[in-house]
Amino acid sequence: MEDPMDRVLDSFKVPPGKAVSLRRDHDPGHTGHFTSKEKAAKTLAEGIGILADLQYRLYAQNTYALLLILQGPDAAGKDSTIRHVMSGVNPQGVQVTSFGVPSAEELDHDYLWRTSKELPRRGNIGIFNRSYYEEVLVVRVHPEDLDREQLPASLKDDSIWERRFSDINAFEKYLTGNGIVILKCFLNLSCGEQKKRFLERVENPEKSWKFSEADIRERKLWGEYRVACDDMLGHTSTEWAPWYVIPADHKWFTRLAVVSLLIRTLNGLGLHYPEISPEERRTLNEAIEEMDREE
Ligand code: AMP
Ligand code: MG
Repeated sequence: MEDPMDRVLDSFKVPPGKAVSLRRDHDPGHTGHFTSKEKAAKTLAEGIGILADLQYRLYAQNTYALLLILQGPDAAGKDSTIRHVMSGVNPQGVQVTSFGVPSAEELDHDYLWRTSKELPRRGNIGIFNRSYYEEVLVVRVHPEDLDREQLPASLKDDSIWERRFSDINAFEKYLTGNGIVILKCFLNLSCGEQKKRFLERVENPEKSWKFSEADIRERKLWGEYRVACDDMLGHTSTEWAPWYVIPADHKWFTRLAVVSLLIRTLNGLGLHYPEISPEERRTLNEAIEEMDREE
């Protein structure tokens, strides 16, 4: 039987090679065929269990790695999605890396350097909380960030964003060609819901630490970010590493969608436990016989 979620997930995929407009093409409030958080809770719990099993097989097989990239505006739910995804998996096989403002050492390197160092090893799931995509988002919206990057002046021309898109596409092709499967989720939060979540952060002392004046500054640039996001999604959704735009106004749905996508991606790899050769089997049997002879 076809899983209705499959069609929902397909509708989130940004078609490679096509221009995209978040405003026109993606509804932040969408919840698929689920009508409430309660109804989705069981599916999410089941999904987390299935994910744990798939992760174990990924780990045992030790050939593929999975890289989950999460992008999205402040308060889109990146951290809470990671918490949920992580809740069932074996921590030995997962690595989460958050990318903030680059350090002086990082600025002294090419822009893919710091993320490359954190790529997951075979058998593992790597989660990037923000990524090299900030290099065509925040850096594009804030020209002073580009000024801080130690690039030769001749390379800071108008074609830099196009070049970065093609660098990223080539880099991701290289990764997938080496068994590193990439899943890219853009958490699509509405401007109104961001405001609500910011106010909640201010009012709730347990959440206030998450809120800063910088968040307000970035919010004022909402329109500029949207333009940069549309351009990024349109140019870097590829056959080998497509973008999925995940509705983010309902956190419970965001989590469910990301977990479902992870399951679908891992299922598509045909993972299996490594088989033991007859020779290895014989050695194991001998070892057992030896143990049996112990007093
Ligand atoms: P947070 O995710 O709340 O910890 O914030 C991290 C901050 O680092 C965000 O404001 C990002 O825009 C910023 N950031 C991440 N990557 C870069 C980058 N490559 N260049 C400049 N700022 C960045
Ligand atoms: Mg923040």
